[in-house]
Amino acid sequence: MAADCLFCRIAAGEIPSDQVHSDDLVVAFRDIAPRAPTHILILPREHIPSAASLTEEHGPLLGRIFAVIAETARKEGIADSGYRIVSNVGRWGGQTVDHLHFHLMGGRPFTWPPG
Ligand code: 5GP
Ligand code: ZN
Repeated sequence: MAADCLFCRIAAGEIPSDQVHSDDLVVAFRDIAPRAPTHILILPREHIPSAASLTEEHGPLLGRIFAVIAETARKEGIADSGYRIVSNVGRWGGQTVDHLHFHLMGGRPFTWPPG
């Protein structure tokens, strides 16, 4: 755990969140500033700065993350209508928290390409 990392501290329960999933590898909680009716962040407990740090060894972890995303989408009732999965990388990618996370957004239509 990185002591100065917001999402490490949320994953550890040091900072409260509206959690929707928790297991040994992955946590998911509602975004504090939702940009869609459903806006959930899914992240590994392990501190990984962004998708730019991923290697093939992270395969099982990523499998778990995407299984949690799919399960969460079903529970939220957005699976049939469709949804958006986003991971911002670096400044120009729009990343503001430097701990790998995936945005699960749904409940409204999205445009393409994103802004
Ligand atoms: P990024 O901009 O890095 O792609 O995504 C970071 C997300 O974290 C943003 O959508 C922002 O609203 C959310 N966020 C920032 N601080 C907090 C917090 O303290 N709690 C929760 N639940 N979400 C946060
Ligand atoms: Zn972290």
